[in-house]
Amino acid sequence: MSTDKSQRHNERMKRHKEVVDAKIEQATIERGVVIVITGNGKGKTTSALGTLLRSLGHGHQCTLVQFIKGQWDCGESRFFSDPSCALSDKLQTFTMDTGFTWNTQDFDTDKQAAQEVWQQALAYFSDPDCRLIILDEITYMFKYRYLDINDLIQAIQNRPEQQSIIITGRGAARELIELADTVSEIQPIKHAFNQGIKAQEGIEW
Ligand code: ATP
Ligand code: MG
Repeated sequence: MSTDKSQRHNERMKRHKEVVDAKIEQATIERGVVIVITGNGKGKTTSALGTLLRSLGHGHQCTLVQFIKGQWDCGESRFFSDPSCALSDKLQTFTMDTGFTWNTQDFDTDKQAAQEVWQQALAYFSDPDCRLIILDEITYMFKYRYLDINDLIQAIQNRPEQQSIIITGRGAARELIELADTVSEIQPIKHAFNQGIKAQEGIEW
């Protein structure tokens, strides 16, 4: 780099650092956060699981609730239920066992299963030792009217101060987006499936 270019680069970096440092200084609130990961692209559930790993790594007590995925023999379930998984005593998992709703197409059975799982999850919203609750694919429960979104909003508002919540699923409701502290929308640019590549163990489940 020429001396001029290098000097301009250093000045830009110095200004950038000042802006970042000022923001860091302003961020003084310590509390749990509500994160929504929505959109049609791949990466919502796996992003939530990445955060779960991070939280478990710090020894936090966590709860993973998976709606509509009960019949999938997914890698994460295998991992956490393996007796050699040292962190599994820090993690509670609940799964709705009817599988995908568009497979079962039984409104009453699915609604009952969703409500049972929700009731199990609800207990953790009043447990200050539980630092993270993941509600994977819960957005569909509101879309199909299996659960009442106001129950979730109330639980979130009354939760312990240091508890964080992650909500995943397409089409997150406006109320959840407004309530959340962090919202990411994952946009599909390409997906292997559209090129005829089969869903793969270890990648898709
Ligand atoms: P992942 O669990 O891989 O993070 P996701 O949670 O973002 O995916 P879901 O809507 O829950 O996505 O769908 C789960 C499955 O559908 C995964 O196997 C994923 O690879 C696949 N999938 C996600 N987005 C797309 C897409 N845009 N086109 C085709 N398949 C997709
Ligand atoms: Mg998902």
